Amino acid sequence: VRRASTSIPVFFSERMVAPDAGGSPSASKPRHVVAAWRAANFPLTLHDVTPASVDELARAHARDFVEDILSGERGNAFGTRSLEVARSLPFTTGAMLSAARHVRDTGAPVAAAPVSGFHHAGHASAGAYCTFNGLMVTALALLDEGRARTVGILDCDMHYGDGTDDILDALDVRDRVPHFTAGAHFHHPSDARAFFRWLDITLDALTACDVVLYQAGADPHVDDPLGGFLTDAELARRDRAVFAALKALGVPVVWNLAGGYQLDADGGIRKVLAIHDATMRACVDAFVENGVDDPAREP
Ligand SMILES: [Zn+2]
Repeated sequence: VRRASTSIPVFFSERMVAPDAGGSPSASKPRHVVAAWRAANFPLTLHDVTPASVDELARAHARDFVEDILSGERGNAFGTRSLEVARSLPFTTGAMLSAARHVRDTGAPVAAAPVSGFHHAGHASAGAYCTFNGLMVTALALLDEGRARTVGILDCDMHYGDGTDDILDALDVRDRVPHFTAGAHFHHPSDARAFFRWLDITLDALTACDVVLYQAGADPHVDDPLGGFLTDAELARRDRAVFAALKALGVPVVWNLAGGYQLDADGGIRKVLAIHDATMRACVDAFVENGVDDPAREP
């Protein structure tokens, strides 16, 4: 019997953070998101991150690609050869990997990795703010380490997880890494109903997985300049549906942030942070007994 959680494990290191570049707020987002979650008094337990090694990255990617990115010989997905970005990459992927090992080793039903920038990274290609594919690096590590026989990827970012598909095809591991990417199907507000039908069917299909990696992207928001089909209420419904279904199935879930590009008038990212706050709220409500906003909670 799994004991009720008293807090949500969050895998964060300052070494995940790099200066923003290329018009994306992703590189510095982990720090802002964790600060916002702490300010909201969510019950979190912060865990340190073990960086992904070259060998671990090279399970999903061509080894020369990995080495050239890390040494600055090759441009990263922000279009620079910044060594600061390069040094952060083993930690962003490592956050996902550390969180996944944690749920498999401790029996925790959930863990969060406040990181972005994975699903457009292919076997030997970086693209669209994604340099290394932390989803696939994590899945392949769990399989190779005997920590899982099947790892599901539920990608609810606005955009198609083409890099994940590229790696799955290159390595021929689709039977052990079932991949569901909403961005391949849904783009317009009129697609919202179809999205929720798809989500129900997809969650049923994840029953047989030992762990699910869930990308809770903020860019499907209707106001996102790169997105646009779900309202705030619908994004919250998405997150509640995912957490409730996987909890009921007894399948642990490791989730991350993915995209989100709304900018405030002053250039801040409060609108994006509010969406990631809402995902954490749904997570706490699902997994933490007497969640912070539980109306039935005793005073
Ligand atoms: Zn996206």
